[in-house]
Amino acid sequence: MHINQALAARIKEESRDAFPFMRQIRRDLHAHPELSGNESWTTAYLANVLDTLGLEVHRNIGGHGLFADLITDPSKPMAAFRVDIDALPIAEANKVPYRSKFPGIMHACGHDAHSAIGVGTAAIMTKLSDEIPGNLRFIFQPEEEEITGALRMIHAGVLTRPVPKAILGLHVAPLPADEIAWTDGLFLAGFDHYLASLSPKENSSLSYPDLDAVAKRCCRAILHFNHWQLPETWQEMQNFWQLLKSPPKTLQNFIIYDASLSGEHPEAWHGQFGIGVKAATPHLRRAALGRIRAALSRICKLSQTNYHIEHVGSMMDMRNDAQLVQSVLPALKASVGENHLIQLKAAFPFNCEDFAYYTKEIPGAMFWLGAGNPEEKKYALLHTPDFDIDESSLIIGAAAMTSMLLEALGFHEMTLP
Ligand SMILES: [Zn+2]
Repeated sequence: MHINQALAARIKEESRDAFPFMRQIRRDLHAHPELSGNESWTTAYLANVLDTLGLEVHRNIGGHGLFADLITDPSKPMAAFRVDIDALPIAEANKVPYRSKFPGIMHACGHDAHSAIGVGTAAIMTKLSDEIPGNLRFIFQPEEEEITGALRMIHAGVLTRPVPKAILGLHVAPLPADEIAWTDGLFLAGFDHYLASLSPKENSSLSYPDLDAVAKRCCRAILHFNHWQLPETWQEMQNFWQLLKSPPKTLQNFIIYDASLSGEHPEAWHGQFGIGVKAATPHLRRAALGRIRAALSRICKLSQTNYHIEHVGSMMDMRNDAQLVQSVLPALKASVGENHLIQLKAAFPFNCEDFAYYTKEIPGAMFWLGAGNPEEKKYALLHTPDFDIDESSLIIGAAAMTSMLLEALGFHEMTLP
């Protein structure tokens, strides 16, 4: 379906009307953050609200996940909206009325806002249900921070009975609160993690402290390869978004290196350290490993040590489906205004997302939802103790997702010849 002006105006109005409802949900969740794998209060709360809206709620999916279906006609297509629900082991520094009640745990990645937008979008859709040419599935996914939740949800069947035509997602971002950024390709990096172990060469008299010193040297050498550093302030972040709009080659083909000795039980970790590589393509990740090996060989040769590298984990790149993005873009423009949209020509290189697993199964796309307001000292810098959002972003998020989901229901009809 195409979002005409009248429908776009109605979606905007419904989104504004839903604001107090969404803000309450966001604040309730913010005050009760739960770590990955422990989201039981969160899911019970969300299930209760979704039940009240009249959706078909499916509980205990993939651990503490749930999904809720809005069925208007089972013979028609379905589109899905995935949000994440978990919090982080960070102590909240904000002194706001809705601050975390749990010491050391905080919604510092905005998943409380994502969940509120998920429920808000569902509420708006129930009001529009006469106009919906299909069915909608709202997926509330646990364990995103551990990147284990998406696969658990998929294995539990959220992409079956029926198979959604498309899946959409969003993430709050340190952009001004009325802006949405999109890509029609790579959206976030994939990664590879390795464990490196050093051992003394035969006949060498190296002690454990010596091995640790070599390990530290190796880490420094790996970190030295970095061309890009994570922006740490609002202004640095704004400059970085500008770069992403017309990125230099080194940013299009980025590689981000990470290396560190384990902080926990250092006495049990002699000569071992972790290595992480994020890059724009799997090919670049392999090239990065070659570079790392060369550096370690050089350092180890000079220091009478051997090294061994073991692959311990990986995550695929998160790529937006270009056809899907193009097909929902007119709806996004109609509902939030073209001047609020930013096309990025490169991925944000420092983060990963397990939304990637859904996009391997069906066409999918994610969007950056601006949630910052520097005048109110709300910077939306992810994973920081003073993370907070301008809550007006809930309205734009719900309007954007409502209109794009409606458009996505017609996705294949529009793109097939
Ligand atoms: Zn997040």
